[in-house]
Amino acid sequence: MMKWRPLYHFTTSPIHQSTASPLYQYTMPTITLKPGREKSVRNRHPWLFSGAIQRIDRDAQDGDVVDVHSDIGQWLARGYLNRRSQIQVRLLTWDAREAINEDFWLGRLQRAIAGRAALAADPQTNAYRLVHAESDGVPGLVVDRYGDWLVVQALTLGIERAKPLLARLLVELCRPAGIVERSDVDVREKEGLRPLVGMLHGQQAASPVEIMEHGRRFLVDLMGGQKTGFYLDQRENRRRTAAYCQGGRVLNAFSYSGGFAAYALAAGAAHVVNLDSSVDALELGERNLALNGFDPDAQAEGVAGDVFQVLRDWREAGERFDVIILDPPKFAHNQQQVDRAARAYKDINLLAMHLLQSGGVLATFSCSGLVSADLFQKILFGASVDAGRNVQVIERLSQGADHPLLLSFPEGEYLKGLICRVW
Ligand code: SAH
Repeated sequence: MMKWRPLYHFTTSPIHQSTASPLYQYTMPTITLKPGREKSVRNRHPWLFSGAIQRIDRDAQDGDVVDVHSDIGQWLARGYLNRRSQIQVRLLTWDAREAINEDFWLGRLQRAIAGRAALAADPQTNAYRLVHAESDGVPGLVVDRYGDWLVVQALTLGIERAKPLLARLLVELCRPAGIVERSDVDVREKEGLRPLVGMLHGQQAASPVEIMEHGRRFLVDLMGGQKTGFYLDQRENRRRTAAYCQGGRVLNAFSYSGGFAAYALAAGAAHVVNLDSSVDALELGERNLALNGFDPDAQAEGVAGDVFQVLRDWREAGERFDVIILDPPKFAHNQQQVDRAARAYKDINLLAMHLLQSGGVLATFSCSGLVSADLFQKILFGASVDAGRNVQVIERLSQGADHPLLLSFPEGEYLKGLICRVW
C-alpha cells in the first residue's frame, strides 16, 4: 500500500530529491539492492531476482508497489513485489515521478493498443495480441483480442491485484462484448496463485467464437481452448509457410485447430494431414477447414497420435510428403530441460527430414525461449547430418509484430522458425 510519509523519512538520493515535492512525497516501501547489483535495473531489465536483494522494508506486503534503491540509497526503479517468486520484483517504471496509479495503467494500455494500430486497421484480421506482458511494459499481463472479445491472463500477484482496474480500463478503451479470464497457467503457482477461468466482464462468451486471420476464418474456444484459444503468434508464419504448399502433400504436425492447414489449402495444397494428440483440437480443425470452404474429407485427414511415434511409423512405411510443418509445444520450461528438449527437437526434425521428398520443404518451429535461435539452428544441423540430407535455410521466422521483442528484455524472444529446403 502506498502511504504518505515525510520526505526526510525515506531518502537522501539526489535523483529523488530533484523530483520530490517540497514537504511530502507519495512514497512506498523500499527494496535495497546488494552492492554492485544495480546493473540490470539500470539497463531496464524488468526482473529483479531474490539474489540481488539485500533488504526488503518490513511493511512491504506481497503485491505492493515498491521503490528499488541501490545499496547507497539511490532511487533506481519502481515495481511490484512478490517474495514467493524467484522474480521478487517486476519493474514497471524507471521514472521517479511516475506513480503506479490508474493513469499509469491507462497509459501503458493505450501505448500497447497504439502499437497494434496497423493490425486493428486490417479488415482481414481481427485477432491479435493487444498486450504482451513485459515486452509492452506491463509485466505479467497478457491481453488477446478475438473479434469482439478480449481474453486476459493475469500471470503475477501484482497484476492479480490490479486486475479489476485493468478490466475496467480495457472495457473503456476497447468496448468488448466481454472479457474472458484464462489465468489457468502453471506459472501462477510460482506466484502463490490458483488457476482461474471465468468472465471479468460481460456475458459468458459464445463457444466457439469465430475470428478472422488474413481473411481465413477460425473457430476459437475462448474458455476451454489451449492458451488463450489460438496461437496468434504464428499468424505471419502460417502465411509464409503456405507459400511453399501449392500442389503439395502437406503434413501439419502439432496441428492444434488446423491454422497452418487452412492456409496451406488456400494456397493450393493438394492435401493436408493434421496430426495432433488432441482429438478435440483435430475436430475443431475439421470444422475450421469446412468454414473456409474446403472439404475436410477429400482435401484433408486428421490423425490423432503422438508425433514422435507416428513419424517413426511412417518412416518405416516409406511415407513421403512435399511439405512438413513442425510446430511443437514448448519442450524446455527451465534450464535443466534444455538438453532433453534439444534431443526432442532433433528427433522430430530428423524424422521429418526422412519423410520429405527431395526438394521438399520443412517449416520447423521452437517456442522454447531457452532454446536460442543459434542452438535451434545447430540442432537442425545435427539432424541434417544424421539424416544424410542437404538442408538449406530459405527463411528465418520469428513471432508476429503483435508479440514485440523489447530490447531490454531479451527473454521475450521465444518463437523461432526455419523454413528449409531438404534435398
Ligand atoms: N500449429 C498450431 C499450434 C500448435 S500447439 C497452430 O498453428 O495453431 C502444439 C500442439 O501440439 C497442441 O495442439 C498439442 O495438443 C499438440 N501436442 C503436444 N504434444 C504432442 C505430441 N507428442 N504428439 C502430437 N501432438 C502433440
